[in-house]
Amino acid sequence: MPVKVIIPTPLRPYAGRRESVEFEASTVRDALDRLTTEYGELRRHLFTEDGRLRSFVNVYVNDEDIRYLQKENTPLQEGDQITIVPSIAGGSDGAAASAAVAVPTLSKEEILRYSRHLIMPEVGLEGQLKLKQARVLLIGTGGLGAPLGLYLAAAGVGRIGLVDFDTVDFTNLQRQVMFSTADVGRPKLAAARERLQALNPEIQLDTFETRLTSENALEILRPYDVVVDGTDNFPTRYLVNDACVLLGKPNVYGSIFRFEGQVSVFGLPDGPCYRCLYPEPPPPGLVPSCAEGGVLGVLPGIIGAIQAMETIKLLLGRGKLLVGRLLLFDALTMRFRELRLRKNPECPVCGPHPTVTRLIDYEEFCGIRGEEAPAPTATVPEIEPRELKARLERGDDLFILDVREPHEYQICNLNGYLLPLGELPRRIHELDSSREIVAHCRSGKRSAEAVEFLRQAGFRKVWNLKGGILAWSDQVDPSVPKY
Ligand SMILES: [Zn+2]
Repeated sequence: MPVKVIIPTPLRPYAGRRESVEFEASTVRDALDRLTTEYGELRRHLFTEDGRLRSFVNVYVNDEDIRYLQKENTPLQEGDQITIVPSIAGGSDGAAASAAVAVPTLSKEEILRYSRHLIMPEVGLEGQLKLKQARVLLIGTGGLGAPLGLYLAAAGVGRIGLVDFDTVDFTNLQRQVMFSTADVGRPKLAAARERLQALNPEIQLDTFETRLTSENALEILRPYDVVVDGTDNFPTRYLVNDACVLLGKPNVYGSIFRFEGQVSVFGLPDGPCYRCLYPEPPPPGLVPSCAEGGVLGVLPGIIGAIQAMETIKLLLGRGKLLVGRLLLFDALTMRFRELRLRKNPECPVCGPHPTVTRLIDYEEFCGIRGEEAPAPTATVPEIEPRELKARLERGDDLFILDVREPHEYQICNLNGYLLPLGELPRRIHELDSSREIVAHCRSGKRSAEAVEFLRQAGFRKVWNLKGGILAWSDQVDPSVPKY
C-alpha cells in the first residue's frame, strides 16, 4: 500500500533533493529500508553501524511518534504519512553543509581496489563506505592477529588499531603469517605496520606498543567500533571482555589450542559476554598456553579468518552473527559444532545486577602474577648447565633423568634416561636413590616438579638442571636444537 515519506530539509541533499517520496510499504522499517535502498547516502544519517535507528532521529506516522506505537514494526495503511525528524542543532542549511563535507567517498583507486566488493549487492558502495569509516581494534598480532590484520586491511577497514608489545620470535613463523624470516627480532608492531600498509596504503593504522592493562584499556578501546580479541592468555581475555561490556562495544572472540578452536561474538546489547560463558578462569596451569601445548600451524588462520568475517558482517550490518552461539572447530576430525549461549542473568559484568562495575586486577583474578605462573624451581636444589658439564667431564657418577615426552626426546636429548613426568609415580622404582640424579626437561619447569616429587619420596641427592635443555643449548652446547 503506498505511503508517503516526508524528507526533512537537512536530509534532502542525500535524497535527490526531494521533499517527499512514495513507497509501497507495510511497516515503518520496511518504508525506511526502501528509502535508504533508493538513497544509500541517507542510511548513515538515519541508522547506526549495526542498523539501529539513530537516537537523535525521531520518526512519526501521521502525528504519532513511533516509540509510542510499535516502534519500527508499526504497521502502515494506505495514505499514511511518515515524517523523519532529526534533532539537528543550529541552522539546517549549515548542518547539511557540514554533513555533506563529512560524507566519505571512494577515490578512483579505491573503487578499483574494492571492485569485487562493490559489485556485490550485499556490500556495494554503501557497505564499502561503512568499512572505510569503521574503526577496529585488534588485541594481539600473533597467530590470530595475522589473518585478522591482513584480511581486515585488505577489505578496506578504514582504521585499524593494533595492540602488542612482543618481538617476532623464530618460533612464531610457523603460524604468524604476517611476519617474514627477516622480521625475526623486530618489534611485532613495526613489522605488522609495514606489512599491512604495503598491502593497503589507503587505510590508517594506530599502534599501541604496550601491554593492555586495567589502567590503559578503557582509553585504548574507547575510540573503536569493534574490538577483536586475539589474545593468548586469560587475564587479557577477561580484561578485554569486561572493558568491552563497560564501554558497550562488540567483542569478536577467538581462541585456539593445539587443533581446536572457538569463535563467538560477545558484548552486543542482547547477547552474552565471555563471562556469561566462563564466569571464572581455570586455575593457573590447568590449560597450557600455545608455547607449552603447541598449536597446529593452520589453525589460527582458520579461526582468525572466521573472526575477520564476523567483524566485516558486524560492520556491514549483514547476515546472522555468532551472537549467542559458540562455534567449535576440531581440525583433526574437520568438524564444526555449535553451542547455544545464553545471556546469564547472574553474569557479574553484563547482568542486570553487576558486581564488576570497573576494571579489576586480572592477574590476581586469574590467580597469577606476571605472565606465567611462578615455577616451583625456587624451592628445589638446582645445578647450572656449566656446572653439570664440568662435573660430567670430571667423570662424576651422575644419573641424567629426562622427564620430557618421547616425541621431545626425538627432537634432541642429553643421552639421559627417559621417564616422562606423568609416569614417574608408577615407575619410581626404576631409579636408584643412592646415586646422584640430575633431572631435566625443556625449560626446567617439569623437572622441578619431578625433583620435588622425588625429594618427597625420600631421594636426597637430586638436582634440577636450571633452564632445562634450552639453557644447555645456550650455555654449553649450541649444537643441541632448541624448540
Ligand atoms: Zn555476561
